[in-house]
Amino acid sequence: MKPSLIVHGGAWDIPDEAIGACKAGCRRALEAGWSVLRSGGPALDAVEAAIVVLEDEPVFDAGFGSHLNFDGRVECDAIVMNGTTLRAGAVAALQRVRNPIRAARAVMEHSSHMMLVAEGAERFARDHGIALCDPADLVSDAERTAWQLCREDSHAAEHHRGHEQGTVGAVALDAQGNLFAGTSTGGTCCKLPGRVGDSPLIGCGCYADAAAGGVSCTGYGEAIMKIVMAKTACDLLGSAPISEHHRSGPEHNSSNIHSVKPAEPSANPCGENFRAMLGARKAVHLLAQRTHATGGLILLDRDGNPGLAFNTPRMAYGYVLPDGSFHTSI
Ligand code: ASP
Repeated sequence: MKPSLIVHGGAWDIPDEAIGACKAGCRRALEAGWSVLRSGGPALDAVEAAIVVLEDEPVFDAGFGSHLNFDGRVECDAIVMNGTTLRAGAVAALQRVRNPIRAARAVMEHSSHMMLVAEGAERFARDHGIALCDPADLVSDAERTAWQLCREDSHAAEHHRGHEQGTVGAVALDAQGNLFAGTSTGGTCCKLPGRVGDSPLIGCGCYADAAAGGVSCTGYGEAIMKIVMAKTACDLLGSAPISEHHRSGPEHNSSNIHSVKPAEPSANPCGENFRAMLGARKAVHLLAQRTHATGGLILLDRDGNPGLAFNTPRMAYGYVLPDGSFHTSI
């Protein structure tokens, strides 16, 4: 099977001055994940490698540089899911783990549970070889400044470099046909301590089913949960019609949803690539229609065809083209 990889750095109103860092971060994430897949390595390792890069990049809202909660602390959530077994591992409200995706993987591989939170999750991570850090090590100067502005003033998106969200995620298909998806986030800025959004919830911020595809979501978590967006997108992949008249109906143009046509020169607009894009687009359309909220998602269908859509001003994303080159965009 031909490997495939797609990543995102969140759907938000990315300011012009952050575009370079977002694209570079997505490119480095693709490099990390693709170096695994290119040499025949497993999709799980590729998802982890890509997300670790994105967590370490402070322009994104995950790991170091995450938004601070109301108390001025970082609280991270993450999930990884195996599309073959439907087994997932998730963590939430971590304050002392640099790369929450590693902790999520440990839960999936070494526990019989699906999700661990807060101190229990940190203890489990430490017991499985993941070093704990000082909570202050996850706080970037930019987010500390933004939090202080929110405390002095009222909370406002402008304080956060013009954005309020920016979760990261990756979906990978390896040569053996294994499909994994993962999502990692610092959540929303100035959230109440203990708040958990869609990101680490199976079916909401992430889902993978090798029979349909793998999905990672971003956007307003309280709305994404309402429509169980990742699982919904997977279901749409399985059922999406691929006839020409579905390419652009008025219902798809009415809610300001952005997606891209397949970049592959040989892509058949009525074929599998189009089906992946249509599934993504329909899920975001449902988010807009039923919740009036904003967000986005990336996906690979069961054959590794990339799809993405968002109804925010911008989304940072990248995927590997059939010739092995990288396509990144905002
Ligand atoms: N979905 C995330 C959350 O609500 C935020 C984001 O994607 O930017 O925690």
